[in-house]
Amino acid sequence: MKVFHSDAQAGHAPRGYAIGGEVVAARETPERIDALLAALRGAGHAVLAPSAHGIEPLRRLHTDDYLEFLRTAHARWRETFPSGPRSEWVLPYAFPNRHMDARPGSVLGQAGWHLSSTTVPIGAGTWAAIQGAADCALDGADALLAGDREAYALCRPPGHHAYADVGAGFCYVNNAAVAAERIAPTRGRVAILDVDVHHGNGTQGLFYERADVLFVSVHADPDAGFPFFAGRSDETGRGAGAGFNLNLPLPAGTKDAGWLDAVGTAAAAVRRFDPAALVVSLGFDAFERDPSALLAVSTEAFRACGRTVGALGLQTLLVQEGGYAVDALGTNLLAFLDGFRGARR
Ligand SMILES: [Zn+2]
Repeated sequence: MKVFHSDAQAGHAPRGYAIGGEVVAARETPERIDALLAALRGAGHAVLAPSAHGIEPLRRLHTDDYLEFLRTAHARWRETFPSGPRSEWVLPYAFPNRHMDARPGSVLGQAGWHLSSTTVPIGAGTWAAIQGAADCALDGADALLAGDREAYALCRPPGHHAYADVGAGFCYVNNAAVAAERIAPTRGRVAILDVDVHHGNGTQGLFYERADVLFVSVHADPDAGFPFFAGRSDETGRGAGAGFNLNLPLPAGTKDAGWLDAVGTAAAAVRRFDPAALVVSLGFDAFERDPSALLAVSTEAFRACGRTVGALGLQTLLVQEGGYAVDALGTNLLAFLDGFRGARR
């Protein structure tokens, strides 16, 4: 199995974000990748640097305004705040609400327009990291197009909360969606199965009116946590996409049996859709010791999830999303891969 990782991804290292009235230390850190890489290398996987795909494949799903903002925001910000504590990170403080729809011209205004919370700061190395992560997903998609049965894209920053023109929840460019969009035009139908503990609202938004990409998400009830404003079971698609979006929210605290039951329901929906390929948004933050503290899934459940996904028998691209219990990330990834590959032998 080819594994893709870009050194550029380490250049994005936010310090923290605001939650519950205080600034807390960043969870989405380079140490996450270090842990996953160490586990992969220890298990004998060769890790490949991705090729540079540039901006064009991202333009298929993301708007030009947004990509230009992500690319230039940090330099523009430094012109506005050349020194002092504000200068290092692009951080919005004002956000448009449902009653405002005019894109502002200043970088300060555009930060709030394109970044939906303080969880998506932009530093000097953020754009290169975003591109590196997307390159991993694109090389993974290309591996499937070239005939590989499976590939793993070690993406960071993650992607599944990112919409066409809005970053959110540690996500800027939607890596899994970009990969699916790479595959769908030549192969036809692609399914995206999202098992991150948070609803993949950005991915849902990008494909909500399309019938060629099925989106299925198993996640914690959005009334219990992020992303709050999407992820309910009555969101089933619109227009041509009606019936091609399946949300399986679970009560907070759900343990292995309930989670695996939902994963089984999700897999059955993928099988019915009969896609040419599968993209998995692979988060490990449903883990029982994850600081997200939403669900309570064990390492063995990730192994069983891997078996269920592997048994679908599809060409599969695994795209890394969340997971913040750094000391357990490697163990949980290897357990998932063990189940996944075991089911395919
Ligand atoms: Zn997550």
